Parts: sequence; structure tokens; C-alpha cells
Amino acid sequence: MIPASGAFTLSNARLHQSLTPGLQAAFDSDGFALTDIAVDGGKVALIEAAGRKPVQDAIDLAGRIVLPAFVDCHTHIDKGHIWPRTPNPDGSFTGALNANGADRRAYWSAEDVARRMDFSLRCAYAHGTKALRTHIDSERPQDEISWPVFIDMRERWRGRIELQGACLFGIEAARDKKWLAGLVKRVAAAGGVLGAVTYMVPDLEELLDRVFAAAIEHGLDLDFHADETDDVSAISLKKIAEAALWNGFEGKILVGHCCSLARQPDLDVLDTLDKVARAGISVVSLPMCNLYLQDRRQDGTTPRWRGVTLLHEMKARGIPVCVASDNTRDPFYAYGDLDMLEVYRMATRILHFDHPVGDWPKTIAATPAAVMRLDGAGVLAAGGPADFIVFKGRNWTELLSRPESDRIVVRDGKVMPRDLPDYAELDDLMVG
Ligand SMILES: [Zn+2]
Repeated sequence: MIPASGAFTLSNARLHQSLTPGLQAAFDSDGFALTDIAVDGGKVALIEAAGRKPVQDAIDLAGRIVLPAFVDCHTHIDKGHIWPRTPNPDGSFTGALNANGADRRAYWSAEDVARRMDFSLRCAYAHGTKALRTHIDSERPQDEISWPVFIDMRERWRGRIELQGACLFGIEAARDKKWLAGLVKRVAAAGGVLGAVTYMVPDLEELLDRVFAAAIEHGLDLDFHADETDDVSAISLKKIAEAALWNGFEGKILVGHCCSLARQPDLDVLDTLDKVARAGISVVSLPMCNLYLQDRRQDGTTPRWRGVTLLHEMKARGIPVCVASDNTRDPFYAYGDLDMLEVYRMATRILHFDHPVGDWPKTIAATPAAVMRLDGAGVLAAGGPADFIVFKGRNWTELLSRPESDRIVVRDGKVMPRDLPDYAELDDLMVG
């Protein structure tokens, strides 16, 4: 019903207040308003309350929800889809680390990484994602293999998916100053983001200082994996915030996971959140991966907690919060397809993004776009790109009850084909 190209107007499109800055309309208690959207030359020419100026030949969406194209700010497309050849033997975090490391050392040639990355990007694109940040395992010698692949992939996908890369290494690797300097140079040359996994090692503060100093020297943003554990003694989120404050860091910092925060005493939580807010840190929760790995028990008993961090408390304090896909079909998460609607559906259920919905929809669009410095992404506004998704659902319960596999993805004002790649494409890589 939407033309494949050319100018058109959608009438009675249901838009959400949190993702349409400046729109004057009568929003209901769910945050929705009926609107008319004029699209011309790949841009949104006009959005206004429905029926204000009836347009001949407008396409009547009859109240279907329209969301801006998704922004996925935390993924691992260098690891994606290795599950068939290297599964996680017991679903534990340690099982994931060991399986992933073994698979990387055995199989991650440039061709292997490139084909799996491209597969992942085709999935994300088909589901309606327009920007994606991936972490890139950067232990030697993988850094020399994966970063050139990433640079090539970013070029090939330009205009379809804005791809960002953040290096990933265990923080103790930063003890080797020469190695760190080399990696930082590589990341800076690639226009990447400096990332690491923090652990409660005795010299954590010193190592963080080293990472912050490198980021300041090269003008890099930061992206950490922190406290992906139920161990209450894991307080590296607080250490990162303190390091940001005492280093006077002015770039963007995104911290993922922060699971242990949800287990800590209230006073400790308050102190950490104060520092995180003052340091201007954004937090991304990975609800599906957390649900899978956290509280995984080997004694036949049932998990008792969800694994996610304190997003409500963070948002209440003005800390920018996101949710994202994280791993897909690898030892850290056996499932997933980089579908941000699935992430939002799961987040709604696991994290209670409902009753009221408020501005939680920003977590999959506007907020990650700001974290990733993407102007004009994650919102729908006149003058902005006509990058959006038309769903069947007309309210939250309709939208979040079905997979919406028949959604319509519009990019640059054109309806695009939504071809999910066939798993069989990767079969020859999985023989091992
Ligand atoms: Zn991750």
C-alpha cells in the first residue's frame, strides 16, 4: 500500500510522544497521537496532528504504530552465529568465555568474521535497524584480523546501517602499555570507540586511568562492559564513574550490563548512581543476555532473579538509559536476531517498561542515537530522514504480543525488501 518510491502521505499514523520531539498533538495516556506524515525526497516533509489538512490520495494507516528506525548500541557481530560449531556447554558465563575464546583462536579468519558480520547486518537491516555499534574482540592477534574487516564492512554498509566499532579486551591487558598504545592507535585510526571489560583486579583504578588517558589523548569515546555478575563485590561501574570524574573526561561514556548493582545495598547504590549521573555516563542494559547468563545454576535449581540493572532508578536521576541486543547465537546467548522490537518486547516484560510506558521507547532509538552521536537518528521530525517502521499493532498490547514479522520498513522514503538471510548460508563455516 505504500509506494516503492516517490512522494506520499500517510494518514492516521500513530506516533509516540517520546520519539517525535516538538510535535504538537493530543497525546493519549499511552503517549500516542494520531498524525499525518508527508514524505518527499527521502525526508519527512511534514508531521502534524491527523486530519488537520486532509490530503488527497493519502494512505490511511488506520492507527497503525510508526516508530523511527532502530538504533542498536551494544552488539557483538564478530561473535554472532558461531553457536552451531561452538555451543556453550552449560549456559554459564565461564562456559561462554571459554567457548568463545576457543572458537576465536580456531576459526576467526578474515573471511569467517566478514561472512558472519554481513549475515548479522542483513538481519538487523531487515528488522528496521539503521545504526549499530559492535564490540570487536581485540586480543592479539585478532585485532589485526577483525579491525580491517570492520572497516571494510562499515564502508559496504554505509547508507544502510551506520556501523560503529568498539574494541573489547579484559582490563588486565592494559597492564601491557606498549600493546595498549598500539591498539588505541588502531582504534583511533579506524574512527572507533575505546572499550574494555572491567574486572575487580587490584590495580583496576590505575588501569582505568590508563584507558581514560588514552581516550583523552586521542579524542575517543569510551564503552565498557562492567559487572556482568551477581557478585556484590563487583563495583567497577562506580570505579569507572570515579575515574571519569577525576580525569575530567568530556567524551561520551557508555557502560553495559552493571548487573551486580541490582544486588547491592541501597546506600551503595545511591552513591554509585550519584557518581554515574555526575560523570555523564549512559548505561545500556542487555536484558535477553542477562536473563540467559545470570543466575544460571548447575545444580538443577531454578533461577531467581532477572539479571538486569536498575534502569528505573537510573532514568529517574536523569542518567541516559538504553537497551540493546548484545550477543546473537553465540556462547553468550544461544538465540537472538538483532531485532530491536524483540529487545523492546523482552525489556518491557523483564524490566517493566509499562504501566506507564512513559518515555521508555527512547531506549531503542533516541537515547542510543545520542550516545552514538548520530544527529537526526532515533526520532521522527519534519526535515529529518524518512527512516521508519510501520507496524500492524495499534497500541502497546497489539505491538508487543506478536513478532510483527510483516512490519514495513521505510528507509530514505522507500519501502525496502525485508529478506532475512537463510541460516544454511553459514553451514560451510560451521563444519569446523
Ligand atoms: Zn556485550
